[in-house]
Amino acid sequence: LVERMRGFGTTIFAEMTALAQRTGAINLGQGFPDTDGPTSVLEAAVDAIRGGRNQYPPGPGVPELREAVAGHQQRFYGLSVDPDTEVLVTAGATEAIAASLLALVEPGDEVVVFEPYYDSYAASVALAGGVRRTVVLRAPDFAVDEAELRAAFSGRTRAVLMNTPHNPTGKVFTRAELELVASLAREHGALVVSDEVYEHLLFSDGPTGGQHLPIATLPGMAERTLTISSAGKTFSVTGWKVGWVHGPRELVDAVRAVKQFLTFVASGPFQPAVAHGLGLPDEVYAGLATTLQAGRDLLCAGLADAGFTPMAPAGTYFVVVDGRDLGYDDGLALCRDLPELAGVVGVPVGVFHDDPDAGRSLVRFAFCKRPEVLQEAALRLAKLR
Ligand code: PMP
Ligand code: GLN
Repeated sequence: LVERMRGFGTTIFAEMTALAQRTGAINLGQGFPDTDGPTSVLEAAVDAIRGGRNQYPPGPGVPELREAVAGHQQRFYGLSVDPDTEVLVTAGATEAIAASLLALVEPGDEVVVFEPYYDSYAASVALAGGVRRTVVLRAPDFAVDEAELRAAFSGRTRAVLMNTPHNPTGKVFTRAELELVASLAREHGALVVSDEVYEHLLFSDGPTGGQHLPIATLPGMAERTLTISSAGKTFSVTGWKVGWVHGPRELVDAVRAVKQFLTFVASGPFQPAVAHGLGLPDEVYAGLATTLQAGRDLLCAGLADAGFTPMAPAGTYFVVVDGRDLGYDDGLALCRDLPELAGVVGVPVGVFHDDPDAGRSLVRFAFCKRPEVLQEAALRLAKLR
């Protein structure tokens, strides 16, 4: 393995899912829903397969999906996006992130990243030969520390890689935090790569009242931002791997140049199905958030019964607790013990940090599961007390 990829062994998601399978514990580790998305979206994929859309789709993505992405950005955020030149369909958000960094970061360029971060960020920055400059979001509220963020920028900053709603913390960046990131990016001439895969998973009691705020909507930001999302979370089809990135034409052209040689194209028949999904009425999106909010409340109640003080998330389908509530300073040790102690699997947050002390005792649980599964998990967790 090349040196820049050492230290990126097996992802924690694979490790914890294997632990759940081995022990028969309830898997609240890797975040994937246990109910598939809207029936009409699933049917649209079946129709596309039966209708013969099984060969290579066009490189930038099928036209109806690019148009649907543009329509979605206009409908929800008032963003004007040209479907022909400013949208690129990718193999999930993961490819969009990797291709964006590979296309735009020169070896030695710095990329500002908040930690804890989704694990592919560090690996993608490393693949590009970039240097990550991390800013710690600290429990329990995971607020952005302005001085720390300012200090992470330098003359070598090429990009900020951000994520709201945020995995693994469930944090939703406030408007003021986004404005701060935006003003620093403008001041330093930096690009923003904004991972918004949880854009429809916000709760009404969060700091933005359940509204997602794309950083590209702030003044002077559309011209320097690549906005990334994916069908996986919005339509509960994580295995389809249909993602997209949109932004200014020159940036999207650069990402496309790289993407051609990573996967060329992907997910042919799923692309028209996702286009159908993006056209569904607002109620479908709102229903998903309402269902997840109920799941959140159910799992948080169970975690509270177990003796934790859950850090109530404003978005995503993850909730974080502190192992120290139960006498564990090491979240990884707690995760390894949890199947035996309670028959439940979580994910340690420490693995998403560069700073070895930050987040060490924290554990993330996913609540994108059926109510009966969450109820059972809550009962099992109560045994910890
Ligand atoms: N970004 C974040 C923050 C995620 O949580 C995930 C999914 N786990 C991804 C990107 C990857 O999305 P996809 O499956 O579409 O590649
Ligand atoms: N995004 C999901 C999570 O954070 C799954 C990621 C993965 O398995 N790579 O749990």
